[in-house]
Amino acid sequence: MEQQHIIIIGAGIAGLVAAKTLSEKHRVTILEASDRLGGRIFSNTLGPVSGIVERGAEFIHGDAEETIQLLKEAGIKYKSMAGHMYRKEDGSLKKETEITEHWDTMMDKMKDAPADMILNDFLNAYFPGEAYEGLREQAAGYAQGFDLADASCATIGPLYEEWSNENYENYYIPEGYSELIKFLAARCKDNGCEIITNTTVSQVVWKQGLVTIHSSNGSVHTSDKIIITVPVSILQNNNHKAAIQFTPAIEEYSKAVQQIGFGHIIKAVLEFREDFIKKDIGFVLSDQLFPTWWTLHQRTVWTGWLGGPKSKDIAHLNDEELLEKALVSFASIFNMSMPELSAQLKSWEVVNWQNSEYTLGGYSYAIKGSTEAKVLLNTPIQDTIYFAGEALYSGPHPGTVEAAIVSAQKLADHFTGS
Ligand SMILES: Cc1cc2nc3c(=O)[nH]c(=O)nc-3n(C[C@H](O)[C@H](O)[C@H](O)COP(=O)(O)OP(=O)(O)OC[C@H]3O[C@@H](n4cnc5c(N)ncnc54)[C@H](O)[C@@H]3O)c2cc1C
Repeated sequence: MEQQHIIIIGAGIAGLVAAKTLSEKHRVTILEASDRLGGRIFSNTLGPVSGIVERGAEFIHGDAEETIQLLKEAGIKYKSMAGHMYRKEDGSLKKETEITEHWDTMMDKMKDAPADMILNDFLNAYFPGEAYEGLREQAAGYAQGFDLADASCATIGPLYEEWSNENYENYYIPEGYSELIKFLAARCKDNGCEIITNTTVSQVVWKQGLVTIHSSNGSVHTSDKIIITVPVSILQNNNHKAAIQFTPAIEEYSKAVQQIGFGHIIKAVLEFREDFIKKDIGFVLSDQLFPTWWTLHQRTVWTGWLGGPKSKDIAHLNDEELLEKALVSFASIFNMSMPELSAQLKSWEVVNWQNSEYTLGGYSYAIKGSTEAKVLLNTPIQDTIYFAGEALYSGPHPGTVEAAIVSAQKLADHFTGS
C-alpha cells in the first residue's frame, strides 16, 4: 500500500497503539483535545496524595494477553495485588472464600438464555422470590460495580462472556499505568508520528480519500484517512464542547453509537497518617454507598470505587460532598467513628469521571442493539473514516485497557495487511 497520511483523533491507549503500528509505514498525526496523553489512563503524581494515584485504569485483569504483551515489549514491570479479598457482612469483615450461593446455576442459565435479554428481566424470570434475593442483589451489584452497567438495560450475553472467562488474578504497575503511555508515545515519535495536544476536533468534512478536520482552536488539518478513538460518550453527545460534527452526516453511525451503554464512575482516594488496617486485607466488598475499597501502592492509601447508576445519582455533588460520603462508607466498613477516621486522614483526591470533559463517564457496557452497532462501527466508511477504542470491542474484556488495545491493534493490522 502506498504511503498515506492518517489522522488519529484521541491520544488514549487506542489512538497510541494504532499510531505505533501505522507510523511504521504511513505518515501519522494524532490530534488530542487534552493537554496530556493517555485519556482514561492517568497516573497522577502531582496531587495532594503522596505517591502515584491512578485516576483512571489501575488493574490488569487476569489474562489480558495484549496488555501483558505490550508491557513486556516496553519492559514495564507489573505485580500481583497483595492481601486478600474481604467482605463486610453482618457487621464483621470476613475473608471472601465462597462464591455466592446459586452463582454457578445462574451462569448455566445465563449461557442458554437469549443473549439480548436484560439482566434484571433475566434475574426476575429465572430467579424469582425471596430465596434468590441475595443472588439478584449480588448479580446486579456486580454488573453495576464492575461493569458500571445499569442492570435495567444491560444485556446478559456480553456479561456472560466476561464473567465466565473471569480470572481473579489482578496485577498493577508499580511505576504507574502511564508508563505504558510514555512508551507508546516515544515509539510513535521515533517513527515520525506527530502528536498535537490541546486540539479538540469539532468538525470532520470528508469525501472518499480526503478529510478536512477543524478543531475548536481554529486549526485545520487534512489527511487521506481518519481514525476516531474518542470515547463513545463523546460521540453520543452532540451538544457537548468536545462533540464532533460530520459533514456530510454519517447518520447510521450516529444512530449506532446511541446503542452502546456508557457507565459512570467515581473514585475516592484516601491517604492516612498510619497503616491502621489489618495487614492481610487488600480488597473489601460491602453494601455501603462506596462499596468497594482496595490498597495497592502504599498501605496508607485506600481507593474507594462507586460505579454504575448510583454513581450517576450523586455525580452532581462537589468533591468535598463526595469525600464525606466516601468517609462514611469507609468508617462503617472498618467500624470506626467519623472523628476517629477524620483524625487519621492526611490527604485525599476525588475523581469524578462524569466531570472529565473529554470522557463524560467511565467506560462502555452492552445494551440491546450493541452487538449490531459494534459491527457497523467496525465497518470503515468509504475506506476513509474508521473508529476504534474500548467501546468497539466485543469479547471477554469489555470496558478495559485490553479492549482498547485489541480494537486498535486489529484496525492497524487491517491497514498494514498484517
Ligand atoms: C476510573 C476508571 C477506572 C478504570 N479502571 C480500569 C482498570 O483497572 N483496568 C482496565 O483495564 N481498564 C480500566 N478502565 C478502562 C480503561 O481505562 C479504558 O477502557 C481505556 O483506557 C480506554 O482507552 P481508549 O483509548 O479507548 O479511550 P480514552 O483513553 O478515553 O482515549 C480517548 C482520547 O480522546 C480524546 N478526545 C475526546 N474528545 C476529543 C475530541 N473532540 N478531539 C480530540 N480528542 C478528543 C480524550 O481526551 C482521550 O485522550 C478504567 C476507566 C476508568 C475511567
